[in-house]
Amino acid sequence: MAKYTRGGYKISIASIYIGYVMVATSYIALGGNIGDRVVNMLWAIAAIGRLPETEVLAVSGFYNTPAVGGPPDQPDYLNAAARIATRLAPPDLLAGLLAIEIGRGRNRRMEQRHGPRPIDLDILLYADQIYQQPHLTIPHPRLHERLFVLLPLNEIAPDAWHPVLGCRIRELLTRSLHRGGRGGRRGYKRGVSKMLGIQEWKSMI
Ligand code: ADP
Ligand code: MG
Repeated sequence: MAKYTRGGYKISIASIYIGYVMVATSYIALGGNIGDRVVNMLWAIAAIGRLPETEVLAVSGFYNTPAVGGPPDQPDYLNAAARIATRLAPPDLLAGLLAIEIGRGRNRRMEQRHGPRPIDLDILLYADQIYQQPHLTIPHPRLHERLFVLLPLNEIAPDAWHPVLGCRIRELLTRSLHRGGRGGRRGYKRGVSKMLGIQEWKSMI
C-alpha cells in the first residue's frame, strides 16, 4: 500500500481520506520499567495526543506492578491505560506507537523478550474490531490474562466489549481476580499497587 510520511509517522493511503474514515475509539496499554517511569509515561501520553488525527480522551491511574516473565530481578513496572479517538487505521496507529517507543529510547534489537524497557505501547482494543495480521492482533492476545492491563483498563473502560471473548472488561477483571495464580488475586497481593490516581498525576503536568 502506498505510504507517505507526516510528522515522522508512516500513514497508509487509506487513512488520508479523513472525511471518509470513521473515528474509532481505541484503548492503549502503557508500561515501562527503565528510567523515570512517571516522566516516560507522561511523555508517551503527550506523544500519543500528537499522533495525526488522534486525541487522548482519558487516562487511568498509574499502577506499580512486579514484572511478569522476562529476566529475573528486573525492576517493577508502571502501567496505565488510555482511551483515544483516532482516524488512524490499526497498522498506522501501531506504526505511530512504535515510533513513540523508539523516541523514548526503546531499542528492541538490544532488549530481551519481556525484558526491561522505557516504554511499551500496545493496542488493546480498536472499536469492536477483530484484527489479525502477522504483526498486529486486536484485541491484544494477552489482554485478558494480565492483571496489570485489566486493572487500569477497567478504570476507564469497565463496559468496553471484548469482541473475541464476548464479554465486558469488568467481567474479565473479575475472572482474573478470582483465578488466582500469577495474574490473579495472589499476584495482586504480591505487589500490584496503585501508585498515582488520575487526579494526582494530572496535578503533575
Ligand atoms: P510485548 O508488547 O509483547 O512485551 P513487544 O512490545 O516487543 O512485546 O511487541 C512485539 C510485537 O508485537 C510488536 O512489534 C508488534 O508488531 C506486535 N503486536 C501484535 N499485536 C499487537 C498489539 N495489539 N499491540 C502492539 N503490538 C502488537
Ligand atoms: Mg508491545
